[in-house]
Parts: sequence; structure tokens; C-alpha cells
Amino acid sequence: MQENGRLLAAVLTRVKLQAKPGVSTLQLAEIAREEIEAVGAESAFIGYRGFPGVICISLNEEVVHGIPSATRIMRQGDLVKIDIGIKRKGFYADMAETVYLGEEVPLEIARLLATTKTALITGIRNCIAGETLGKISQSIQKVIETGNLSVVKRFVGHGIGRSLHEKPPVPNFGSSIGGPRLEVGMVLAIEPIATFGSPEIAIKQDGWTAITANGALSAHFEHTVAITSRGPVILTSTCQAG
Ligand code: MG
Repeated sequence: MQENGRLLAAVLTRVKLQAKPGVSTLQLAEIAREEIEAVGAESAFIGYRGFPGVICISLNEEVVHGIPSATRIMRQGDLVKIDIGIKRKGFYADMAETVYLGEEVPLEIARLLATTKTALITGIRNCIAGETLGKISQSIQKVIETGNLSVVKRFVGHGIGRSLHEKPPVPNFGSSIGGPRLEVGMVLAIEPIATFGSPEIAIKQDGWTAITANGALSAHFEHTVAITSRGPVILTSTCQAG
């Protein structure tokens, strides 16, 4: 899983560099397909419960599960959420990042991105064997709400391993005493999603794409994290030793 995580981080890095104004989300997904194949992996998302895309690309008010489309052209000023899952040698890895297309990031968007990223890192720091899973959830919620943003509660993180989505679910909210005790060897996909104002979600007519009901922007960051005796290890890190 460590090897898969490292490969996925490299794939996502290369794909996000190709997210540019004028490129369609389908073109970006095709680039992702090539990059995933180049590392000897396959897309974990295509065909998953009938999902039609190689990866998920969600723009602006789209929160998650955006379907790549030839007619959806990315533009300057777009907030692009790229979510990639791979399968290789029987194991899965899952990772997401949000990028802003443009040189100067507007202050509010910078705040959204920084807060959501901090929530992810804070959640990861609480991936400690012997502690409750609820500590992850509560710490993420605290960072997002202290930043005057809302947690999108409809979607949660998850266990990951020989399946893409395993138990336990990892909510981005809740009490620190909730959830199971974390154990060495567990691997979790931690994935906070934050937005401005109401966290209510609607699903587009394609049956997949989740959008904020009020049209507000949202951000999503995700890492696959292993719980070890020496603490949390981010498997989908680009700067991983070994
Ligand atoms: Mg995930």
C-alpha cells in the first residue's frame, strides 16, 4: 500500500500540473488514465457502482464525484478538485487535491484551501493507535469551523485496503469519544470537505456530481494514511522515505 500510495502521489502531481484553462475535464481524465497505466495501476473509480469516469473532477460549486466531460472546459479562476483512486497488486490508494487556476488566489479561496488542508493534516495527526477514531473527526471539524467554514457532512472518509471503501467510516465531524479504537495496521482515507455557509448538498441530473445547494465554492483534500506503532504515515505523500 505504501508503494501504491507513493505512485498515486506522483500520478496526482503530474495530473494537476495539466489542469489548465482551455483543457476539458475529459482531457485531464485521459492524461490521468495514461499516468495511472504508466505506473502499472488501474483506476479504482471507473465502473465503481457504475461511475463512468477514470477520475473525479469537480469544479467550483461541485463538491465531489464530478464526471469528466469533453464539453466541460476549465477556465481561469476555476477551483478544481481532482480525486484519484488506483488499484495495483490487489490494493487500493485514494487521494484528492484542490487547485486554483490562476496566478493570484483570491483571499477567500486561499483561506478555504489553507483551512481544509490544515484540517486534513490535523486529522492525520490524530491517527494514533489506541485513540478513538472520533478524535480524528472532532479535530477536523474544529479546524474547519474555527476557520468560519462548514463541514460537508454528506461525504466521509473511510477504511481502505483490498477494497476502495472499507470500514470504518471516518466522519469529518462528531464527538471525540465516538467511533472505534484505532489499531496499528489500519489504513484510513482521511478526506475533509469544507465550504462557505450552508453545507447542504444537491446531486446533479447525471446522478453523480454533488454540488453545494447554494452554489458556494468547496474544497476537498484527501490522503491515504497508515496507523503504525510509530504514529501516522501518509502513504500518498510525494516526499515519502523509501
Ligand atoms: Mg476517498
